[in-house]
Amino acid sequence: MQVRGYAARSPESPLSPWTFERRSPGAKDVRIRIEHCGVCHSDIHFARNEWAFTTYPCVPGHEIVGRVEQVGIGVTRYRVGDQVGVGCFVDSCRKCKSCADGFENYCETGVRMTYGSLEADGKTPTYGGYATQIVVDEAFVLKIPETLDPAGAAPLLCAGITTYSPLRHLGVSKGTRVAVMGLGGLGHMGVKLAASFGAEVTVLSHSPSKKADAQRLGAHDFVLTSGEGALTALAGRFDVILDTISAEHDLNGPVGCLKRDGTLIMVGASPTPFSIAAFPLIFGRRSIMGSLVGGLAETQEMLDHCGKHGITSDIERITPDQINGAFDRAVRGDVKYRFVIDCTKF
Ligand code: NAP
Ligand code: ZN
Ligand code: ZN
Repeated sequence: MQVRGYAARSPESPLSPWTFERRSPGAKDVRIRIEHCGVCHSDIHFARNEWAFTTYPCVPGHEIVGRVEQVGIGVTRYRVGDQVGVGCFVDSCRKCKSCADGFENYCETGVRMTYGSLEADGKTPTYGGYATQIVVDEAFVLKIPETLDPAGAAPLLCAGITTYSPLRHLGVSKGTRVAVMGLGGLGHMGVKLAASFGAEVTVLSHSPSKKADAQRLGAHDFVLTSGEGALTALAGRFDVILDTISAEHDLNGPVGCLKRDGTLIMVGASPTPFSIAAFPLIFGRRSIMGSLVGGLAETQEMLDHCGKHGITSDIERITPDQINGAFDRAVRGDVKYRFVIDCTKF
């Protein structure tokens, strides 16, 4: 089946219209008419080959919301017309310990990413959601609560689950002191979700203009990290720091802001490595952990939590032809707080 979308052809070239082939739905597949797709900073890193493993052409997009248009004969969970979502991965081995435990995202043989992986045939690349349609095995399709605005719900499929999963894993709840570093797509969802768990939330940002937004989003405090001695004043304060920054930055100061046994969660995926001194870690038995999106069951749990609490992303809608300008603006931090493409306009 021919599908219209937008693709990057090289690290330097802007994204441009591209028509490509999707497989015909198999017995367990769902064909989805994509209505909305969020623009994650990972799409930008990947389209520009900043992580140095991109193959071209590349169709980014892993915050996908749409309606089921066709189901295979063996599909039991979805019907034509259902509002559904697809996140960062579209398959896994389904056999390893991680898959059996519901952590398909950590599949030990390598999860099949929504874009930038290979299909089951081992040679066709997977292409993402900057497109009109996608075909996905029903097991990797999520239900989007009908009560949520579909455009605002799209970023939940990556920004939402990426922040929800590690906060839940660390047991963030009423009274936990959480700092969110970087108020972007992930960061603003981290603030909303941590606040919905009852945590006391502080935003650590290098953008003075975001102070009012931080409070509106549910933060109790805002600290400008570029201010002289700003982090020194926060020494030993937080149980958890959720680090969503997309570029290289100092970690020693933030780690020093953790309490004894506190954890800095690295979800930001800076292409350049970090330098960390031993002392901020060993004094206070502090940890740095990484986290990659979340498993399927946890993603559905997050969507249902958001449905119950009316949580969606703050978005700016764009048409497909605005995507290159949106990439540039996102890199400058000039978006409140996620671009979402209207995929009915391809
Ligand atoms: P984003 O919307 O661009 O937000 C990143 C934020 O980081 C900015 O709003 C800014 O916040 C801060 N920032 C940017 N450059 C900075 C710099 N040079 N120094 C200090 N702060 C800076 O990006 P996003 O979509 O939230 O993604 C964030 C990162 O997470 C990306 O690297 C992305 O690839 C990664 N990611 C990881 C996962 C995962 O599973 N682990 C999933 C999705 C995305 P302030 O203006 O408030 O300082
Ligand atoms: Zn993402
Ligand atoms: Zn597996």
